Amino acid sequence: MHGGFHTCAKGVPLRSKVAAIITVFLFGVGLLVFIMVQMQNYASIINDAGSVRGATQRAVKLEIAGLPNEDVVERVDEVLASLIDREDQRPLKNRETREFEEALSRIEDEWGLIKQEFAEPSPSEERLLALSEEHFQLADTTVFLAQRRAESDFLWIAAVGGVLIFGASLLVSLLERHHRLKLRKALVTDPLTGGRNQFSFEEEAQRLVQAAGAGAYLVAYSNVVGFRSVNESFGRMAGDGVIRTLNALFEKACGPDELVGHVNADHFVMLLRNDENRMEQVAAQTAARLRADDALPFSDRIVCGYGTYELADGGEDIATAVSNASVVLKEGTITNLIARYDDAFRAKLAFERHVEERMRKALAAGEFAVYVQPQFFLDDGSLAGVEALCRWDSPDLGLLMPDRFIPQFERNGFIADLDFCMLERACRLYPLTAQTKPGGGPVHVAVNFSRVTMLQNDFVERFERLVGRFDFPPAFLHVEVTESALTADDQALVGILSELRRHGFPIAMDDFGTGYSSLSLLRNMPIDVLKIDRSFLSASEDDERSRRVLEHVLALANDLGIDTVCEGIETAEQADLLRRLGCSIGQGFHLARPMPLGEFRARFASDGTTPSAS
Ligand code: C2E
Ligand code: MG
Ligand code: MG
Repeated sequence: MHGGFHTCAKGVPLRSKVAAIITVFLFGVGLLVFIMVQMQNYASIINDAGSVRGATQRAVKLEIAGLPNEDVVERVDEVLASLIDREDQRPLKNRETREFEEALSRIEDEWGLIKQEFAEPSPSEERLLALSEEHFQLADTTVFLAQRRAESDFLWIAAVGGVLIFGASLLVSLLERHHRLKLRKALVTDPLTGGRNQFSFEEEAQRLVQAAGAGAYLVAYSNVVGFRSVNESFGRMAGDGVIRTLNALFEKACGPDELVGHVNADHFVMLLRNDENRMEQVAAQTAARLRADDALPFSDRIVCGYGTYELADGGEDIATAVSNASVVLKEGTITNLIARYDDAFRAKLAFERHVEERMRKALAAGEFAVYVQPQFFLDDGSLAGVEALCRWDSPDLGLLMPDRFIPQFERNGFIADLDFCMLERACRLYPLTAQTKPGGGPVHVAVNFSRVTMLQNDFVERFERLVGRFDFPPAFLHVEVTESALTADDQALVGILSELRRHGFPIAMDDFGTGYSSLSLLRNMPIDVLKIDRSFLSASEDDERSRRVLEHVLALANDLGIDTVCEGIETAEQADLLRRLGCSIGQGFHLARPMPLGEFRARFASDGTTPSAS
């Protein structure tokens, strides 16, 4: 947005400036050439007028001396004719030109008289001398008039040339100014709303903030929650209409020294006075006016989110403030719709920076530990398997639960390394889970995988290579992927899961009930285990409708040959209810909490085998 083409000091495009200079330069050169041609012309006129004077004198002298003078006569005729001819052809004649013409015509007459005398059988010497004297006087005057005419012409040319050059420069500079204004307008105007764009907003905001001083302003960044669905449901034109309406409403809500700029799509930026509840006021006013807008029949559906950043001092960079406000909007809680870049948020950013810096070293140093949470058959209470859950045991941050770091790892891609690390830890559990008490038999280990990890190019090969290094029967290694990571038409993920399943690894759909729980997921996804989320369970406890849905989901899963595990069982009543509804396996704090391997070993290993991971 900033720049994009070369500009010179005042922001005029370099190319147009160069074109203007070249135009004036060419015009000046043309004028100079014209003046030089004219000067040569004048020299030859003055010269010719002089020749007529001299040659006439000579012709008379030769005649008196009785010598042949035909050549000289012919030369005078020629030069005189050419002088007269040249003057006749001049398009514009001023007073000096006409005087010069009259003088030429008098000379011509006088020369005619002299030639008549030459033609007499015996020309009179006395008359010839008298005529020649008169001719000399006339010719002298003519030379003088020729010079005067040349001088006057020259003055005219200089005056007209000067005016033309001045006019041309004026025209060029006017055009340039027009061009500059047009460019400036394009540079600061948002094409969709016709209002300010981000560039213009930042320029003007910087000026206002500097003039106002410390703490006077805050920058607010806003977008429409779920704007994509406005476009998808009502069409792009309607989406554009929403953007234009919002821009107008924000402008209306702003005071005289407050500003609005449209950034792009449904994103806006505002500079508001940092008065108490100013952001709340603008948000409420805009929402109320939007609801009252009859031109948008769906305006009740439109909700804006805001991120705000307070400018501590007048010298703070606006672009950075805008970026901070946009970050807090993205990260901010959507529930109260106004998120602030406050100390809590700064602490969160500092924590994330720390995580980013530490994560690789932490993985290498083995700070990511595996905890296991046992799962039990609900009918007889025997151990069915364990879920491997990650903990970050950090010397400087303490014991961190996965929700503190997994979302960040999913954003920065580090999750793939962590998931494979957990897979390896899970594989090392086999001696421990192969013989459990009481009763003996091996139980499964469920490992969580992020969608980000699974979509990596060589996921399946890397998975198989790793598991292949251990003596772990695939049927006992469950691959968990959360429901929200899946969509029924996600062919890439369906392909990956099918391939793992072909190799004998059961697939578990985690957190069923938190996403949209589409029936077509059950139909299309290659799954062996359905893990019902604890929110499904808590809703079923006191809501008959939810309970019936749960009952039928369990029945449907059983009918399809899909195992069911219910997560988050916290009471004996819940365990009872699930057993009655036909859920086969339970997991939850009531049955067992996630525990370190040492504890698991003490409680469940039949022979006290030491696993190679800890
Ligand atoms: P999840 O896979 O659904 O794991 C179950 C979560 O529910 C665990 O939280 C567990 O401690 C918790 N939980 C179990 N029983 C109860 C209960 O009765 N009540 C309540 N309130 N909670 C219960 P945890 O360990 O904090 O893990 C959170 C999530 O982090 C996991 O949810 C999983 O999605 C993710 N996660 C954990 N480890 C990994 C990993 O190695 N890789 C990946 N990609 N994700 C992981
Ligand atoms: Mg899980
Ligand atoms: Mg879960």
